[in-house]
Amino acid sequence: MITIKTPEEIEKLKIAGAIVGETHHYLEPYIKPGITTKELDLLAEEFIRSKGATPSFKGLYGFPGSVCISVNEEVVHGIPGNRILQEGDIVSIDIGACYEGYHGDSAWTYPVGKISSEKEYLLRHTEESLFKGLSMIHDGAHVGDIGYAVSEHAKKYQLGVVKELVGHGVGSAVHEEPDVPNYGKKGKGPVLKAGMVIAVEPMLNLGTPHIYMLDDEWTIITADEKPSAHFEHTVLVENDGYTILTKR
Ligand code: MG
Ligand code: MG
Repeated sequence: MITIKTPEEIEKLKIAGAIVGETHHYLEPYIKPGITTKELDLLAEEFIRSKGATPSFKGLYGFPGSVCISVNEEVVHGIPGNRILQEGDIVSIDIGACYEGYHGDSAWTYPVGKISSEKEYLLRHTEESLFKGLSMIHDGAHVGDIGYAVSEHAKKYQLGVVKELVGHGVGSAVHEEPDVPNYGKKGKGPVLKAGMVIAVEPMLNLGTPHIYMLDDEWTIITADEKPSAHFEHTVLVENDGYTILTKR
C-alpha cells in the first residue's frame, strides 16, 4: 500500500530529511585524500545523533555501518572500513536518518580531490538525471514517468542504468511502497498523489549496467569495474510538483 502522509507525519519527515541534508553538508569538507571510510561513518553518526536522530541504515537488514560508503566501481551498500580515500576517487555516501520514527534518505557522489574528466562527466550527468526524474513529479503523474526521464537522460549520455536497485516510498520505514525504478514507460506504474513521500535515486555507470555483489554480501560493484555514481533525494509529492526534503 502506498500511504498518503498526514500533516503531522510530513512535519517529522521534513525534520528527518533536513538532518540528512545537513549531514551531507557537514561531511563534505572531510571528503579528502587520506581519510578512511570508517572515519567518515563515525563523523556522520555523531552528527546525526547530535540532532536527536539515529542513523537509519545501522542494523537495517543487518548492515554494519551507519551510512553506506561506496568508492569508484562500488555502486551502493559499501561498508565503511579501513579503506583510505585517494586523490581521483569518487565516493558515494548514502545517508539515512530517523527522527521520531520517520526517515529521510539521500545519497550523493563526491569527487576526492581532482578527478578524471570521465568521472566528472559521470557525476554531472547522473546528478542531472536525478533532477530530470524529479521534474516529472506531481499529483497525478505515474511512477513510470520518473524512470522514463532518468533512463532517457542516461541513454543520451551513454551511461548504464542499474536496474536491479530502485528508489522507494519513505515514511515510518526507510523502504516503503512504491518501488521507483530508474527505467519505465510514460503513463505506467502507480499514480502519485499529493502527500506521498518517495526517494528517487538513479545509479548510473560509465560502462555496463550490469552489477554483482562482493563476498561481503553487501557491496554491489559494476561488472566491468568501471565507476558508478548515485544521486538521491527524498521528496514530498505536491499538487503541482514536489518539495525536496533532503536539501543539502
Ligand atoms: Mg539512500
Ligand atoms: Mg533510498
